[in-house]
Amino acid sequence: MIRLSKSSISDFEKEAVLQVLDKEYLGMGEEVQRFETQIQAYLQTDMEVVCVNTGTAALHLALSVLGFGAGDEVLVPSLTYVASFQAISATGATPVPCEVRPDTLFLDVKDARARITENTKAIMPVHYASSSKGMEAVYELAQEFGLRVVEDAAQAFGSRRDGELVGTKGDIVCFSFDGIKNITSGEGGAVLSSDPAVVRRVQDARLLGVEKDTDQRYAGRRSWDFDVREQGFRYHMSNIMAAIGIVQLGRIEQFKKKRQQIASRYIAVFANCEEVTLPDFDFEQILPHIFVIRAKDRDGLREHLLANNIECGVHYKPNHLLTKYKTGYDLPVTEDVYESILTLPCHVDLTTEEQDRVIQTVKGFYA
Ligand SMILES: *Cc1c(COP(=O)(O)O)cnc(C)c1O
Repeated sequence: MIRLSKSSISDFEKEAVLQVLDKEYLGMGEEVQRFETQIQAYLQTDMEVVCVNTGTAALHLALSVLGFGAGDEVLVPSLTYVASFQAISATGATPVPCEVRPDTLFLDVKDARARITENTKAIMPVHYASSSKGMEAVYELAQEFGLRVVEDAAQAFGSRRDGELVGTKGDIVCFSFDGIKNITSGEGGAVLSSDPAVVRRVQDARLLGVEKDTDQRYAGRRSWDFDVREQGFRYHMSNIMAAIGIVQLGRIEQFKKKRQQIASRYIAVFANCEEVTLPDFDFEQILPHIFVIRAKDRDGLREHLLANNIECGVHYKPNHLLTKYKTGYDLPVTEDVYESILTLPCHVDLTTEEQDRVIQTVKGFYA
């Protein structure tokens, strides 16, 4: 079976975990602080980095420290992992599903604009398949209507847009380090923000709202006499996770090279295949977490690949078609995109032979 995606773990990650275990300080401490510092250095940004235990927690914390709750609305593309929607509804706010553009598969700003009401508080653009082409228009819309922007950049760690790494600027940017994302810390995520008040609140809120507990833990101390003013959560990252993340961050150039190489090989082949089209991404700039094609007779191709022991996926069933997030309106572009998208194997350990087999099997289906 050729896998769709998987983690790539070397002896270095294993060694790093053993070192943390030997220290017998497993919770949040010095390794987490080091991981945050190294992410900030990698991105060369002034945005502060706060690591948490999942990407979903990162999104939930960002929205919750902004004070959103019942009655508030957050604009979000329907074509995303349900994590984006769950993070919004966890605060009590309502996710308002929007269209994506059929070419870029990124939030359709025109559609989003039409869904703004007096209750709209924020926009959550999603870096679908690591691409965020069109982000500028999102920030313009946000500025015009005084909305906060919480970027779901779960899939985009290491990707660039207009030459700049994602996460170097913006209002709030959230990453995921789950097992199959561009780098992993086992599970994990991070909130980055240019707003010091957001950073401070997220730091406290990840540790049950215990004020300045982050500073104490990074100094190897515990807080005994503390105050709590806000709702908090148990969302901090552990030293075990951070140790894995630090090693993975050190391997990111290698990961990027490999994933981009896989993408270029697919692109070269599908340029000559009229049944397959590719989204309009800046492929030389992104670090592709998933490789998505739009395929004629998608379901047939999907079954053919599976029958040939090749895993593939559909990212994603639009959220407005899920019972919890059903809307009173259709999103025809998104529904049309959903019918044709297919994700092909793309991970760091995919061999050239395996990729050739994927390519031949796709070609064979249309021959
Ligand atoms: C992975 C992912 C998330 C959630 O991240 P976790 O770390 O798995 O909680 C959120 N949004 C998108 C688009 C994702 O791909």
